[in-house]
Amino acid sequence: MQRNSFFLIFFVLMLSACSDQPERIEFQFKTMGTIARCDLELPPELSPAEARSMAVAICDSVTAVFNTWQENSELSRLNNAPTGTAIPVSPWLRECLAAAERLHILSDGAFDPTAEPLMRLWGFYRQKGCLPSQAELDSARALLGKWDLTGSGEVTKTTAGTRFDLGGIAKGLAVDKIARRLQKAGVDNGLIDLGGNLFCLGGASGRHDWRVGLRDPLNRDRYFASVAITGLGISTSGSYERFVTIDGHRYGHIMNPATGRPAEGVLSATVFAPTALLADGLSTAMFVLGQDRSRELLGDLEEHVEAILVIPGRDMGQARVLVTPGLANRVTLAPEYEELYQLVTWFQPDQASAFIPLSTPHPRRVQPPAPGHSSRYHSSSNAVPRNGRPPRRWFLRLP
Ligand code: ADP
Ligand code: MG
Repeated sequence: MQRNSFFLIFFVLMLSACSDQPERIEFQFKTMGTIARCDLELPPELSPAEARSMAVAICDSVTAVFNTWQENSELSRLNNAPTGTAIPVSPWLRECLAAAERLHILSDGAFDPTAEPLMRLWGFYRQKGCLPSQAELDSARALLGKWDLTGSGEVTKTTAGTRFDLGGIAKGLAVDKIARRLQKAGVDNGLIDLGGNLFCLGGASGRHDWRVGLRDPLNRDRYFASVAITGLGISTSGSYERFVTIDGHRYGHIMNPATGRPAEGVLSATVFAPTALLADGLSTAMFVLGQDRSRELLGDLEEHVEAILVIPGRDMGQARVLVTPGLANRVTLAPEYEELYQLVTWFQPDQASAFIPLSTPHPRRVQPPAPGHSSRYHSSSNAVPRNGRPPRRWFLRLP
């Protein structure tokens, strides 16, 4: 009798599990100089073809606005517009420029949407590096930040030669737009990845979670850690994928506006924020700012943002992984990195200057939170298998 009721309950559970299982699809396509990947659970009313065409259409629209390789994109037209003339911009460009302007101010100029002349000078648009002279660097730096955005959405360049490159933030906007469009179409669970800019859509029921892999900045084919997370935008900035080589030295594609030179010192910066737009802009800014000034920036934000900064360790091949306190229990170092990479809590809200080892005496590995751990995030350790499969791992692709 007991046995029968067990089977009955089991069967009912099976039935209910099968009847409302959403269809799980994955697709990818080339766009914006990288690859977009989507892993989605579809509601019955949305076909895979429809979901795909929604994502592709948004990327096409974003490209038409932001792609400076296209002469007729909106941003190219703005770059070529005369100085001193107020140019009305479309809602997406306005949204991006408003976010960029805010980050520019908050980061004391480290994030600069007008880094185009510096990128050009170092040869990034020709894919051929060229070491600029100090005079050239000074002239290019004089063009930075010379623009105004009005509340009604008009942009005025105030110096001839000022040009925009929104490569540090536009992919984040695209990811947000795709996520929102899919959510509106009924997708509750899914992951959108555009070249290392992600949004994890978690179920309203909180059933699912994503385990996001962090690419090793010293060896891009490997992942040094993973983070269990959902409901957030995530972005990583690193200089090792896009660079120019000059006299045998590699120069990364993120400029330090204070010097005019490619930023150095940070191996990678990963940001977890309410939107992919904010995560994208912040990860670029933090890559430039380094650990101390990034900490100040995080303290100045009104949004809840967490971050992971990878900086060089004491010896070659070693690194310190600075993790903000809200993530400390969510990061798991890959076993093969336990001797190489040291996880440390970046700062505590009340002890801003201290590095606090996450565990002692050998601060190597952090376990996922215990079941029932209360947090804003869902714990992957509790995650229900997705369509009978275990929660999948999803890896950040760096730009
Ligand atoms: P990716 O675009 O490869 O995802 P990031 O988001 O970190 O990487 O942005 C780097 C891009 O941002 C550069 O290729 C360039 O287009 C632009 N950029 C370079 N330096 C800066 C800067 N200081 N502030 C804002 N954008 C920048
Ligand atoms: Mg960025």
